[in-house]
Amino acid sequence: MATSAICPTAARAQGVAVDTTTTIVPEVTTTVAKPKVKPKPKVLKGKDVKVVYKVRTKDPVVFITIDDGSTVTKSLAKYLDRNKIPVTTFAVSVMLWKHREWFRDRKHMTLENHSWNHAHMTLISDAQRKQEVCGASQVARNVAKESPMYFRPPGGSFNDKVIDTVAQCGMKYLVMWNVEADDGVVRMAGRGKLGPGDIILMHYLPSLESSLVHLMEQIKRNGLRPALLRDYLT
Ligand SMILES: [Zn+2]
Repeated sequence: MATSAICPTAARAQGVAVDTTTTIVPEVTTTVAKPKVKPKPKVLKGKDVKVVYKVRTKDPVVFITIDDGSTVTKSLAKYLDRNKIPVTTFAVSVMLWKHREWFRDRKHMTLENHSWNHAHMTLISDAQRKQEVCGASQVARNVAKESPMYFRPPGGSFNDKVIDTVAQCGMKYLVMWNVEADDGVVRMAGRGKLGPGDIILMHYLPSLESSLVHLMEQIKRNGLRPALLRDYLT
């Protein structure tokens, strides 16, 4: 509808009543739905990846890490569950998938990345390496419903290219170890006892349960307790 504008002075002269009070124009607020912008996950570079052999902590904790995943048993499950032993597992994808129900059921365990099929990381092509690492993260996500945070190279072999791949696949830590504890023998590289922050390497061998019993005794004797890496390396 068109309204005719009239100058107040002219209006008065014409005897037209004019409302000279200030007209407050209500502020029109339009709610515009903001497009939902998901914060982009930071693209990691090789320099963002830390290589860890031992965790720097004064807490009386050590970290039990168990690799590969070939042998898992009901008895081992019972032992781990009953004693609530925190375990950081580095199973290869083929084994993780094969025993996915067993791994998924462990409440005190996180599932990390040890490659798809235990390839020698420094001897394969860039494309193969990416498949071995990023592919393994996908399998772990399918099993655990969360992404692995750590990569452990098969055989401990890595170079700068491997570190770059770890970053590309979204992980900030390449986790090595400083103690080995397979087959009932705890190897501490010349030291007489375990210390805070030690990362202990074990494997899913048939002897794992008895090795764990032995290791747990050693851990207690040294005034320590096992903890999850995810509570310390974030
Ligand atoms: Zn391995």
